[in-house]
Amino acid sequence: MANKGGRPQSDNPRTFSLPEIRLTREEKRMIQMKAQLHNGGNVSAYIRDLAINDNRTPKPVETCSCGSESLHIVNEDQHLLLDVAGTDRSLTLKGVPRSQCKDCGQIMGDFLLDVQIESVIDEEMLWRLNHRQPIPDEMEFDELLSVTH
Ligand SMILES: [Zn+2]
Repeated sequence: MANKGGRPQSDNPRTFSLPEIRLTREEKRMIQMKAQLHNGGNVSAYIRDLAINDNRTPKPVETCSCGSESLHIVNEDQHLLLDVAGTDRSLTLKGVPRSQCKDCGQIMGDFLLDVQIESVIDEEMLWRLNHRQPIPDEMEFDELLSVTH
């Protein structure tokens, strides 16, 4: 992808790995064949491409505590308290997807998503500190779903 003015390439080396993925024989064959068709056999490039181009909207939870199965996704701001280098900071994460019940109006979070958000925000703030980047008061949730180059 073209550089969109984000982090310079030299600040973004590919030094991280995903955990090993267990597959069936057919899943492995499918991925190898699709990587060959679309990315010259480079499975890493194929998976990166898929993630970059995955623009699906999340699905709401299936059932509300009121019993309704009529839920939709709404985007809410989430306020986080962070410990950044020993200093308390607050950060508003804008537009976090939540499930809202169309019948009773209740909005439900996703505990596992919240855990993941906390983990990636902590990592982001540490990265910004180490690279002398400003610590923001707010961020868009969608920033966590994209790469800048
Ligand atoms: Zn409900």
